[in-house]
Amino acid sequence: MPNTINSETCNQCSLCIAVCPYKIFEKDESGQIVINSDRIEFCVKCGHCMAICKSKSIDVEGLSYEKNFYELQASDITSDNFINFLANRRSIRNFKDKEVPREISIGFDSILIDEFLLTYDVT
Ligand code: SF4
Ligand code: SF4
Repeated sequence: MPNTINSETCNQCSLCIAVCPYKIFEKDESGQIVINSDRIEFCVKCGHCMAICKSKSIDVEGLSYEKNFYELQASDITSDNFINFLANRRSIRNFKDKEVPREISIGFDSILIDEFLLTYDVT
């Protein structure tokens, strides 16, 4: 099944247009959100559109809301606590001024591909 939009539940918020890196969504002359059939082949199944769509109106081939996304639980985390949580995270990279050997970069690529396949269960 190709990617689809449920026009019954879509509220025309346009967020899917804003987040799709490959410009696969657009508005037609009547203002309806539609999929640009000329660009659908560029879909990389990143799932951004499904994640941002509050009404769960988008189906991307190979992804499902049940299998690939989860609901955030309501919590009593305050905005101050959340900002403190982010502020306490640290990520420091020390780069060296020398090339990464090809066999290491190829290995890294295969890890990323494995992660992608596991994440999206397309094996
Ligand atoms: S994000 Fe969902 S509700 Fe908003 S325009 Fe796109 S399909 Fe419609
Ligand atoms: S899955 Fe990613 S590339 Fe495909 S339509 Fe959605 S946002 Fe665009």
